[in-house]
Amino acid sequence: MIAHSTVLITGASSGIGATYAERFARRGHDLILVARDKARLDTLALRLQQEHGISAEVIQADLTQFGDLERLEKRLREDTRIGILINNAGAAQSGSFIEQSTDSVTRLVTLNTTALVRLASAIAPRLANAGTGAIVNIGSVVGLAPELGMTVYGATKAFVLFLSQGLSLELMPKGVYVQAVLPAATRTEIWERAGIDITTLPEVMEVDDLVDAALVGFDRREPVTIPPLQEAARWETLQASRQALLGGLRQAQVAERYRSIS
Ligand code: NAP
Repeated sequence: MIAHSTVLITGASSGIGATYAERFARRGHDLILVARDKARLDTLALRLQQEHGISAEVIQADLTQFGDLERLEKRLREDTRIGILINNAGAAQSGSFIEQSTDSVTRLVTLNTTALVRLASAIAPRLANAGTGAIVNIGSVVGLAPELGMTVYGATKAFVLFLSQGLSLELMPKGVYVQAVLPAATRTEIWERAGIDITTLPEVMEVDDLVDAALVGFDRREPVTIPPLQEAARWETLQASRQALLGGLRQAQVAERYRSIS
């Protein structure tokens, strides 16, 4: 089913999402392109249809709006042609936590986590029932690095990684592939939208390179794909350390260092 299914891509109007759209069109997949900017989506859909002979539908949706999300969830539940969900729409935010408004961090969390998990939740039971399909969630290496100071953004991306790893464990045995993709700084509009000057970054990956690498991981059915990570062994070491830490937990027993009153 994955080979011939329709791909629904959120945040397809620019950057990583638009590049995924191009790559899946090249592979012959029909597309459903989702974002707020309908004019941009229409232009992309028309071009991809003409160049690749696929069908590309546009759905205008603001994923922070419950009604728009619900419409999309219904489509994911009911449209059996959709076999791949690319959960890509997301935003970043500049400033420190105390500079960011409560409303703006709430919007960020809603877009980067609530919308993403709702869409995954809408499609996953159907895919599991069919025993095939894929869910790709775009995280970020920022989700591994509280030191970078993008605290709320990083927290949303840590959520995306954890969710993807957990869903992978649950759904892979049922035939559904789940991939977390963790880009580092990539040349897209996200920086300008967040009010961050991309020229201040020491290194930036080109978006074509990022998506092509992510698709290598997709074709290999990697649970976690980190295109900028040069040595894969470092990721394996992190996972092994995590397992070792879990092995050191004793549920009923307080650790020695907390037993003294001084
Ligand atoms: P981008 O070019 O700004 O694309 C973001 C996409 O999300 C756009 O298509 C945008 O379309 C859509 N979007 C934003 N708010 C939305 C909303 N409320 N409802 C629906 N769609 C919305 O940035 P990008 O770099 O490609 O980002 C894609 C993903 O990659 C994000 O999840 C981001 O966190 C992640 N990522 C990016 C980088 C990087 O350095 N670029 C690094 C790590 C992770 P509309 O404005 O038309 O709605």
